[in-house]
Amino acid sequence: MQIEDYVKAGKIAAEVREMVRTKDWIGKTVYDICEEIEGEIKKKGAKCAFPVNTSINEIAAHYTAEPNDPLTIKDTDLLKIDLGAQINGHIADTAVTVCYDAQYDGLVQAAEEALGNAMSMIKAGVKASDIGRTIETTIKQLGYKPIANLSGHSLEQYTIHAGKSIPNIWSIGGFSLSENSAYACEPFVTTEQGGGFVRNGQIKNIFGLNSRKKTKNEEADKLLDFIWENFNMLPFALRWITKEWEEKKAKELLDFLVKKKAVQAYPVLIEVNEQRVAQAEHTFIPNENGVTVTTAAP
Ligand code: MN
Ligand code: MN
Repeated sequence: MQIEDYVKAGKIAAEVREMVRTKDWIGKTVYDICEEIEGEIKKKGAKCAFPVNTSINEIAAHYTAEPNDPLTIKDTDLLKIDLGAQINGHIADTAVTVCYDAQYDGLVQAAEEALGNAMSMIKAGVKASDIGRTIETTIKQLGYKPIANLSGHSLEQYTIHAGKSIPNIWSIGGFSLSENSAYACEPFVTTEQGGGFVRNGQIKNIFGLNSRKKTKNEEADKLLDFIWENFNMLPFALRWITKEWEEKKAKELLDFLVKKKAVQAYPVLIEVNEQRVAQAEHTFIPNENGVTVTTAAP
């Protein structure tokens, strides 16, 4: 457990997130947004832990820009930007929602308030199910719905979802937080008209290594090595390999690796009633004095 690396990555991620929060993204393409934010993370001395997610309106999570993606932010959009910095594989995972339709300001505030209330109860030994209860209660009292099938997660070196879930609703069982382990908490909130669940969409533009087993296709195996050397087991995007391979070829090889199950493709997640979704997220480490929120605002 490299606390210093977690703290360093957290500070960088938090600084970039606060820049994201205040900037006007209307009229910008998601491609430019992803590239700008990823550039900021690198400029500050970290690597990206995953491609920046720019999930708009009813898309709750897992949309990142395709190469030169022309999708443009409108003045009525609600945009969730989820970003990750890592140092030696020690990850800071954080998200913010920017909203250009005042009608949905309450949705954004509910996500922030749920996250704030969750953070203020964190110490070693707290049950994940009690965090879920706090998140659910906060959101419902404000007249909104939590997304029940999205949750926070434990983090390990080079592993974003390391096996343990921090739910956004009360649920039976679960684990208790350990001292000096890293976790992310991420309430997702939708409107009363929402179903409170997400489903998989058609689009898949985030990928992750599954297996390093050779495919006997020389070029595909070269890409497999490139992925391992540059991203380890962390997620990546097509944009991240089109400097080494021409886009059409890169897409072909990636499709091949997905078919061979060497690489996994993650679908976008959409609110089942197509209602808008807001998100807020922090990474934190419980310690003997309470908690270090590594991505706390500077
Ligand atoms: Mn995240
Ligand atoms: Mn997360």
